[in-house]
Amino acid sequence: MVRFQIEQRGISDPDVLEAMKKIPRHLFLSSGAGHRAYGDYPVRIGFEQTISQPYMVAYMTEVLRVGSKDRVLEVGTGSGYQTAVLAQIAESVYTVERIRSLSLHAQKILNELGYTNIFFKIGNGFKGWAEHSPYSRIIVTAASKGVPEALKNQLADNGILVIPIGDYRTYQTLTVFKRTGNHFEIKKTIGCRFVPLVDD
Ligand code: SAH
Repeated sequence: MVRFQIEQRGISDPDVLEAMKKIPRHLFLSSGAGHRAYGDYPVRIGFEQTISQPYMVAYMTEVLRVGSKDRVLEVGTGSGYQTAVLAQIAESVYTVERIRSLSLHAQKILNELGYTNIFFKIGNGFKGWAEHSPYSRIIVTAASKGVPEALKNQLADNGILVIPIGDYRTYQTLTVFKRTGNHFEIKKTIGCRFVPLVDD
């Protein structure tokens, strides 16, 4: 998976490649779908949600430029696979999911894998997770029309935020924001397709 879908498409961050070689992706899918875990596509995880395609996980993690000192906020825990990739590299990961069953399922697997630097919240990620802010990195793994204001506020100075921006019914553009003071530099990258970020 890593060699053909990720390295050959130009992902070169050694931390990302190492993390994805190490993490058993099949554990994040239900046993019936396990054989699809290393395929080149997203896979359904129930509740109309999906585990992202491996390449998308790699790409997002690379553009986020995550390092060992980063405190990361993730919105959309989903299966917990992206969470594991982040936790493998970063200092800590704060992850928010609105669907209780998905969060509990991800918590179980990530605890069994021995991660002690992941903190879970069940709730609306539109609001971020103010108690632990600011975050040096923020990743949103669901489609939004714009960046929720709370997330901008919770991003540290010189921090980076990555989010799919656009209409969830069609396609989005994976967009990277870099904060300097109160200025946000915006960079559009690849096209992508995510489930909607739901504000409730
Ligand atoms: N990174 C995950 C992606 C899961 S899909 C993975 O690869 O498994 C996106 C997830 O975002 C879904 O689980 C969905 O329930 C969640 N989500 C959508 N809107 C949300 C919100 N406002 N707050 C928190 N989670 C949200």
